Order: sequence, then structure tokens, then C-alpha cells
Amino acid sequence: SSDITVSDLTGWLTEFGRLIKAHKEELTALDAAIGDADHGTNMDRGMTAVAEALAADPPQTPAGLGKQVGMTLVSKVGGASGPLFGTFFLRLGAALGEATEVTPDQFAAGLSAGLAGVVARGKAEPGDKTMVDALTPAVAALESAVGQDQPLADGLAAAAQAAADGRDATVPMLARKGRASYLGERSIGHQDPGATTVALLLAAAATAMS
Ligand code: ADP
Ligand code: MG
Ligand code: MG
Repeated sequence: SSDITVSDLTGWLTEFGRLIKAHKEELTALDAAIGDADHGTNMDRGMTAVAEALAADPPQTPAGLGKQVGMTLVSKVGGASGPLFGTFFLRLGAALGEATEVTPDQFAAGLSAGLAGVVARGKAEPGDKTMVDALTPAVAALESAVGQDQPLADGLAAAAQAAADGRDATVPMLARKGRASYLGERSIGHQDPGATTVALLLAAAATAMS
């Protein structure tokens, strides 16, 4: 079936961690331009700890996985992105619950719950030049695809493309949240690091869960 197992979700997180490591310098360089030059090292430290936690204590349910990933990111990453990505995974896991398998519709609804958690915590709106600018169109693309009964692989590919487009769309934006907002007009012309990480998160889903 096209249902998603805890093993599929673990594979997604493993691929995300691999992509973060491969793009660590790029993410930190983006943050050097409009922040404090730590986003790549922050996320790599967090995802390395996530991989260790998943291996040492494999979760049995999506809720358990979300809790483990979310708590690890909150405790290891700090800054803005730790609580925000941590909240995303905590809400995703809570929405997916204790089922051994979830449908594509449930997974899309879970990502939407994760996004809602990020927005509730960080108060960023689309257009503020944050991770929300990549996550919002990605969730919408997946919800639309699975709502039309398209195969999960097609939905994840569309979500990954929407996240990449959302990431690119942050370049001309003026930052209104986070450290980049301190730069005002000088934030214009730079790609948001957190939105870049979200594009990697959705690329990992398309690779690992299709
Ligand atoms: P810090 O800014 O604390 O050093 P990071 O560099 O790890 O944290 O993460 C910066 C990223 O966090 C930004 O590129 C942006 O995408 C995201 N971010 C910052 N503040 C917010 C917010 N209020 N809402 C959503 N995302 C945010
Ligand atoms: Mg930073
Ligand atoms: Mg920092």
C-alpha cells in the first residue's frame, strides 16, 4: 500500500540529516549574510543527535518519533530554529498519533499541523522571509495532490518543488522576523537560511518516502 510507516518516517529523517550535513557550509554562509553564521552548524548538530537518538531508541509510533526528534532539536539546537523545527516535529508526531501506518492524507494533515505550530510559536506570516515561506506552499502542494488522489510520490515531488520555489522567493523579501529583521532593507537580496533547510526537508521526503 501507499501507507507510511514509522520506518518510512525514520528513513526521511535519516536522508534529511544527510542533506543537512552535505549543505552545512552553504546554510552557514547564507546565515553569515543576514544572521549570525550558525544555521548550518546548528542544524547539523541537531540532526546528528537525532540520528543517534533514533538508532539508540527506535520509536514505535509516529507520535513517539515526533517527540524524540522534536525534543532532541529543542535541546540540541537552541536559537530560533531549534524551538521552531522542534515544534514542527512535535506537532507532526502528535497529529499522526499512535497508528503503525498513516495514509498520505493523514501525513499531509500532519505537516499542516506542524506548520501551524511553527506559526503559533514564531508568529511569522508568509512574506516575512522565514522558513514559513517554504513550508506554507509545500504543505499546500501536498494537500492538493493527495486531495486529488494523486500518488504519494507525485505529491511529495510537488511539495519539494513548491518548497524550493518558496525558498527562492525569499531572496527579494525584506525580513520581518528573526535576526535577519535587524538588517532591515539590507536583508533584501539574500536567501533565507531556514527556508533553505525546509527545501532540504521536503527534498528528503521526496527521495526517501517515494
Ligand atoms: P538564530 O537566528 O537564532 O541564530 P538559526 O540561524 O539556526 O537561528 O535559524 C535562523 C532561521 O530561523 C531563519 O533563517 C528563519 O528561517 C528562521 N526564523 C527565525 N525567526 C523565525 C520566526 N519568528 N518564525 C519562523 N522562522 C523563523
Ligand atoms: Mg543563526
Ligand atoms: Mg544563533
